[in-house]
Amino acid sequence: MFFAGIDIGGTTVKSTIMNEFGRIVYQSTIGSVKGDPYQLAENIATGLSGFRSPITAVGLSCAGTVNRITHTITAANLKWMEVPFESIMEETLHCPVAADNDVAGALCAESRVGCCVGEKYVVYISLGTGIGGAFLVDGRPFRGFDNTGGEIGHFITHADGLPCPCGGRGCFEQYASSGSMTRRAGVPIREIFRQVRAGNPQMIAILDDYVHELCIGLAGIVHIFRPHMVVLGGGIGAAGEELLGRVRNEMETHCPSIPNTPMPLFVSAMLGNLAGSVGGCFLAGDIMGVPIHVEDMNALLRAK
Ligand SMILES: [Zn+2]
Repeated sequence: MFFAGIDIGGTTVKSTIMNEFGRIVYQSTIGSVKGDPYQLAENIATGLSGFRSPITAVGLSCAGTVNRITHTITAANLKWMEVPFESIMEETLHCPVAADNDVAGALCAESRVGCCVGEKYVVYISLGTGIGGAFLVDGRPFRGFDNTGGEIGHFITHADGLPCPCGGRGCFEQYASSGSMTRRAGVPIREIFRQVRAGNPQMIAILDDYVHELCIGLAGIVHIFRPHMVVLGGGIGAAGEELLGRVRNEMETHCPSIPNTPMPLFVSAMLGNLAGSVGGCFLAGDIMGVPIHVEDMNALLRAK
C-alpha cells in the first residue's frame, strides 16, 4: 500500500509517498497555483505521475481553515474561499482523499516520528509570515467543533492593537510572526540572527522585543492548555537555540509565574520542510484504517 501526503502552500506543493512501513518511496515538489483549484489538482496529479504504482489514499496538509463539516477549505494564500478540494482531488486521482490544516499535519508528523513522540500535551506553534497553531490534548488533536480551532495567530495579545487581515485588531501574529520582526529589522531572518551573533546592539534589541511579544502570547497559551511541551516550527523555529534560549529565559523572568508547576519544555520542530507532507501520509493511512508504523525513523529523518 502507498500513501501520499501533499503539503499545499501558496508558493510550492510538496508531495511524499510512503508505504505502510513508513519508508519514503517517492518525493516531488511543484509550483503552486493560486485561484484555480482544478488546475492545481491537475498539476499535483502530474507531479505524482512519476510514481508508477497505484496510490491507496491521499492526505492533504493545507494552509488555511479546513472545515471538516462542510469539507471545504478557505485559504487566503491560495485565493480559495470554501473550495471543496477533497472532492476535486478524489475526482482527479480516483482514490480517497482527506484534508487537514498544515500545522495540524506538522504536529501529527512530529508526534509520530519527530520531536514529540509519546508526548500527550503539546502546543505546536508555527512562526512564519503568519502564526499557526496545533494542539495535542491527552494525546489527541484539539480541533474545535468544526476542525478550525487552534488559530493561535488570531489570539488577541494587544487590546485595540494593529489591524489584522482576519478583520480583528491586536492579533498575536501582528506582533510575533517572523514577518513582524523582519519588517522592523529591514533584513531577512537569517541576517537578523547573523547580526545578533556578531553583537549588533540594534538587532539584539529587535530580537529581544520580538521574544517579549512571543512570550506574552505563549504565557497565555501555557496558562490555558498547560502543555508538557511547546514546539516552535515554521521558518523562525529553525533558528534553534538562539531563539529557544531567549524564550526559556523570558518565560522564567517576565511572564506571570505559575506556582507548583514546571515550565513546559521548549523545543524546535525536527522535520522541517518534510513535516506537512509526512503528516499527510499519516492522515492518508488513518482514513484507510492502516496506521503507518515507521520501522526506520532515521531513514525518514534523513529524507528531509
Ligand atoms: Zn487576526
